[in-house]
Amino acid sequence: MNPPTYPFPLPPLRFAYDALEPHIDAQTMELHHRKHHQTYLDNLNKALEAHPDLHGLSIEAILARFDSLPEGLKPVVRSHGGGHANHQFFWKVIGPAEGANQPDGPKSGELREALTKDFGSFVVFKEAFTKAALGVFGSGWAFLVIDPATKKLEILALPNQDSVLFHRKPGLLCCDVWEHAYYLKRQNRRAEYLEAWWNVVAWDVVNSRLVNFRAGKQQL
Ligand code: MN
Repeated sequence: MNPPTYPFPLPPLRFAYDALEPHIDAQTMELHHRKHHQTYLDNLNKALEAHPDLHGLSIEAILARFDSLPEGLKPVVRSHGGGHANHQFFWKVIGPAEGANQPDGPKSGELREALTKDFGSFVVFKEAFTKAALGVFGSGWAFLVIDPATKKLEILALPNQDSVLFHRKPGLLCCDVWEHAYYLKRQNRRAEYLEAWWNVVAWDVVNSRLVNFRAGKQQL
């Protein structure tokens, strides 16, 4: 299946808005997906309208060539294109707290092995990722990425809607720490949101992203 191109549509969720209750509430999920994500798309699509040379490209391809985009287009692509890519990624790596989605991580598999090898243990990784997410000043994201040169997993904390694609490091997992991701239920309590968020990480998807990367497949 070809990845979506201009005009970029709102990607559907794989689950109902209330499927992440009680960890992430339905109202937050619906507003986050239907309003916040849609706004990034609306602004991105509007800005791309006058650039037909980019209409055949996926959002990942547009972000990967960020440096060569027209100067006037860069701010919108950075914030709203990044916002679209980050949210599309985020919806893929979360899911209902059941089955393999457990806060103590994947039970086995390549991801478990890689996290243990590169961080020492799953617990150490989880603490480091949580610390990075808590430490984002203002709005931003925490990511688990793979460095294509060393093949090691690492954690990146990025501001605003910056994408891991700017760093040319494929993303395996991401966590949105903008207040709009948790404010309705958790107000300013980001730590409480993060603790709840670990219950809805879709480890099978994160593991597949690692397996696909290692197999040399395109990562979207
Ligand atoms: Mn968000």
